[in-house]
Amino acid sequence: MQRYDMFIDGESHPPSTDNWFPTDNPYLGAPWAEIARGGPRDVDTAVRAAHRALGTGPWAELTASARGALLHRLGDTVAAHARPLAETEVRDNGKLFTEMHGQVSYLAQWFHYYGGLADKIEGTVPPMDKKGYFAYTRKEPVGVVAVITPWNSPLLLLAWKIAPALAAGCTVVVKPSEFTSASTLELARLFHEAGLPPGVFNVVTGFGQDVGAALVEHPLVRKVSFTGSDTTGRRINQAAARDFKHVSLELGGKSPNVVFADADLEAAVNGAVSGIFAATGQTCIAGSRLLVQDSVHDEVVDRLLELAGTARMGDPMDEDTQVGPITTPAQYAKVLDYIRIAREEGAELALGGKAATRPECGDGWFVEPTVFTGVSNSMRIAQEEVFGPVLAVIPFRDEEEAIALANDSRYGLGAGVWTRDIGRAFRMAERVHSGTLWVNTYRAVSYLAPFGGVKDSGIGRENGIGAITSYLEDKSVWINT
Ligand code: NAD
Repeated sequence: MQRYDMFIDGESHPPSTDNWFPTDNPYLGAPWAEIARGGPRDVDTAVRAAHRALGTGPWAELTASARGALLHRLGDTVAAHARPLAETEVRDNGKLFTEMHGQVSYLAQWFHYYGGLADKIEGTVPPMDKKGYFAYTRKEPVGVVAVITPWNSPLLLLAWKIAPALAAGCTVVVKPSEFTSASTLELARLFHEAGLPPGVFNVVTGFGQDVGAALVEHPLVRKVSFTGSDTTGRRINQAAARDFKHVSLELGGKSPNVVFADADLEAAVNGAVSGIFAATGQTCIAGSRLLVQDSVHDEVVDRLLELAGTARMGDPMDEDTQVGPITTPAQYAKVLDYIRIAREEGAELALGGKAATRPECGDGWFVEPTVFTGVSNSMRIAQEEVFGPVLAVIPFRDEEEAIALANDSRYGLGAGVWTRDIGRAFRMAERVHSGTLWVNTYRAVSYLAPFGGVKDSGIGRENGIGAITSYLEDKSVWINT
């Protein structure tokens, strides 16, 4: 079976523990490779390499323009290897090849965008209120960044962090999810071949409680950039606070997708179905609560069931497949458990509701696209993140009630609004508490638009110009003239 070493200081790095763990193919329900099981010693080696690269050597000596040019080269490298990288991601997390290929090809843009910004990082000359002084500010990289990623979109979410971090001049130590480490290791090797100096991009693989925790607690790490569950995010935030480290936390969601009676219902239903069932519901921005105005509720539900009921499940490499497997056996069990809980709470099962046993699903961890109607917003199925293909449909009377229901959540990541009333779109944009609000579309993201959450969905924003400043510190320099 194929084995993946870690990647530290520009070299393959076998585990100091001499241990390996299997990584599964969710479609086959079986392991396809083995990953090095790192430990705190490997974390220390990687962080020290990243710290050295920050202070001396080829990375520290690059001009900002040369750093930008190198990032453009990394973007070209991603684009040139998009197909094999996407194939690795599909093997590891079971998402559809069509989606992963598009996603990996697109993430090249993050390196081009932040590469373009690298030599536009400028300090200021503040006006003085004291005679005889001159002051200016420098923008300096925050230092070594710990990057911790989840399993659902490993490379895309990695790019959101490392492209601005590298453009700012930082170095990184990445701890990918133990379920999907392979593509990150492949990318690190490709970037090394493309000229990224040793120590700038290190990958330590292993589990959250040892490798992840040791990385967050390492004294030479100055920022932690994390995407994952709010439970882990809370733990990381507390650990990082002990040494006053910067944090960026992109956490979970229970996003409302709100359909008003005046909407283009066909577009709204398409948006609702792809909003929850794309990536088998395993996205932080899944539109898992569908709020539908009373007067069109039954029509929307009928159309929704018709569309979702025809979804083709099967091999994620097959371009005709629309719904793939769940990535891990634990997640598969969790999704089925939430379906049981929803039924016990009195929600009405309108579609799916069980493990898929169709022949085309093989031995994979598949769950039928599932729709519950008659859901009340206080039910667990409406309050807790399932992270699977399970939609809760909740009726509402009017705009006030829609806003109240949308905001009745501890999360605030994404929200969708479907309406032809422009005034209503603006009112919803103002009053719904979320980091992103989509009007007559859903799930769109770009390197240009800030992304992040409010409330338990996290702290900080990725993407857009602002993201690069979160990897920089201002230093004021005073000169007595
Ligand atoms: P998770 O929190 O279980 O794990 C995420 C990462 O944290 C993994 O690499 C894991 O090994 C590591 N980790 C676990 N314990 C740790 C610890 N004590 N210290 C340091 N690191 C630790 O999340 P997951 O199950 O991999 O991913 C699913 C979650 O991610 C969902 O809640 C989803 O909503 C969220 N997510 C959020 C976004 C976003 O941008 N907001 C995007 C994708 C996924």
